[in-house]
Amino acid sequence: MSAIADCIFCSIAVEATPADVLFDGGDTLFFRDANPKAPVHIIGIPKKHLTSLDAISGDDHFVIGKLLHEATDVARDAGIFESGYRVITNIGKDAGQEVNHLHFHIIGGEDLGPLVCNSSSL
Ligand code: 5GP
Ligand code: ZN
Repeated sequence: MSAIADCIFCSIAVEATPADVLFDGGDTLFFRDANPKAPVHIIGIPKKHLTSLDAISGDDHFVIGKLLHEATDVARDAGIFESGYRVITNIGKDAGQEVNHLHFHIIGGEDLGPLVCNSSSL
């Protein structure tokens, strides 16, 4: 599992940068977002550097499927399983992806409202 220089999530994956880790799945990691947008905001990553969902190939789908399954357990442990939550991944510029290491946002802990986009009135 080689870390990419200058990738903050690779750095967290190899424990070079501290994070509030909630679950370590071996090839996956879940930690609290440093700048939460909701009462519960957790980031789930594959430890392998993949720039986004666009970059998965070969056997990568196994770890991504496992990660999404683990996300439900992490949501349960975080107390948002019953109330509901959202799992989101941003891909590229229009989605506002800031960290170019595939990650899933697990957000909840309040009524999240509708899925809002800039052209939601369309
Ligand atoms: P994106 O916009 O790429 O989908 O989301 C990146 C997320 O990573 C943001 O919600 C941001 O707050 C979070 N983030 C960025 N740097 C760090 C960090 O060093 N530690 C943690 N825990 N979260 C980070
Ligand atoms: Zn990375």
